[in-house]
Amino acid sequence: MAPAHDTIRLSAAAMAAALAAGEVSSEDLTRAHLARIADVDGDLNAFLHVSEDDALTTARQVDARRAAGEDLPALAGVPVAVKDVVVTEGMPTTAGSRILEGWVPPYDATLVTKLREAGLPILGKTNMDEFAMGSSTETSAYGPTRNPWDRDRIPGGSGGGSAAAVAAFEAPLAIGTDTGGSIRQPGAVTGTVGVKPTYGSISRYGLIAMASSLDQAGPVTRTVEDAALLHELIAGHDPRDSTSLTGGFGSFLDAARSRDVAGLRVGVIEELEGEGFAPEVRARFTESLAALERAGAEIVRVSCPNFRYALGAYYLIMPSEASSNLAKFDGMRYGLRVVPEDHPTAESVMKATRGQGFGAEVKRRILLGTYALSAGYYDAYYGSAQKVRTLVQRDFASAFEKADVLASPTSPTVAFRLGEKTDDPMAMYLNDIATIPANLAGTPGISVPSGLAEDGLPAGIQFLAPALADDRLYRVGGALEALLEDSWGGPLLAQAPDLKGASL
Ligand code: GLN
Repeated sequence: MAPAHDTIRLSAAAMAAALAAGEVSSEDLTRAHLARIADVDGDLNAFLHVSEDDALTTARQVDARRAAGEDLPALAGVPVAVKDVVVTEGMPTTAGSRILEGWVPPYDATLVTKLREAGLPILGKTNMDEFAMGSSTETSAYGPTRNPWDRDRIPGGSGGGSAAAVAAFEAPLAIGTDTGGSIRQPGAVTGTVGVKPTYGSISRYGLIAMASSLDQAGPVTRTVEDAALLHELIAGHDPRDSTSLTGGFGSFLDAARSRDVAGLRVGVIEELEGEGFAPEVRARFTESLAALERAGAEIVRVSCPNFRYALGAYYLIMPSEASSNLAKFDGMRYGLRVVPEDHPTAESVMKATRGQGFGAEVKRRILLGTYALSAGYYDAYYGSAQKVRTLVQRDFASAFEKADVLASPTSPTVAFRLGEKTDDPMAMYLNDIATIPANLAGTPGISVPSGLAEDGLPAGIQFLAPALADDRLYRVGGALEALLEDSWGGPLLAQAPDLKGASL
């Protein structure tokens, strides 16, 4: 058997091959990841909960089934980490909030059931901005996650824990959720791959809802092929989710492996490449496009004039839906309950629980959303935002007449410093400028590393496709990854600085 501590640096696909060849057991592979978490997570804080027993139980079952000669699913035995906004039976689930502290859900989200049925040991739950509201993981009630590339920097958000865990080799695969960019932006700033699938293509049953018309779960990985494998595993219709689509998905794995962009029309979104984007982020973006062009892709320019209103519309629609979704956290049903001694009525318990249980950003959004939905302002705010949403969808429709996929830098800058934007919500919200349009339109997007930019930190390029054409993202993403890795002489993560003396 190969030493499992070497295997943690492989891709998930390579781990699956090593498991299938009997070169390593799932138990050893899982233990190696648990050891890595024990070693580095004190610094990184990517995990809110490590589920050692649960993970090892699954690993041993998979090993036994393999020993018995059973035909196992592709990723059986490869460990995975799950963002803490996804409910897990028997494992605490907090969504990064005090208000859910101590809550242990009595059921699994559908996607977790799929992970378990496919034999993926669940390593634990990853840190995140409280209720997925943020772009830096700093609004977590349990302290920020640090970026493995530079521990004074943010790992992106809201899914910074999942991205940092994957970048630091604590987990080869992770689940994220993307309401306005929370899979793609952390991917970009940690040098990992993140996919926001078509809205409705992955069950949201068991996801703690932030903004129901925007939320979508998806894969966080180190390679495009791994994202395709995980995406194929968790996708599919679920009668328990009324927004769940029925089928029509292409083969992501074939697309990721095709390496063929000949004739593919890549549309550069004019509104998302100029002002506000850091010079080196733009330079890596331009170089990525040039590499695709040399490989036979056709680069065209498209204009999406209404994208400039997308951020404003999102920050009305998202808080409006969140203010309603979060009403259920009242101190009566889940987690925290604060009972005031002097006057313990139902109302005072709710007030005290919500007052102490929610952090400042969550309160800000509940206030914003409640205001936007209030009788006198509904048309002016929520109504206008919905109209912008339609205009953004129309921009996509006309852009996709000229291009098969669209492209932009994923995030305007590389990872910023912890604390740099916490006092300036507008500056924080502007991180999402490029990622939000896809959420408003329900269309899919992928972020793949484009190279090192300012301060030697990773930048990402985002590709967007029409609804249900997620396979195009894998085709272009897989091809670009191969082209760039050829020029870098290996994966971008191989260039990350040492973490606790252990080479990343
Ligand atoms: N940063 C965005 C926000 O704070 C996106 C969050 C997300 O995708 N969950 O709303």
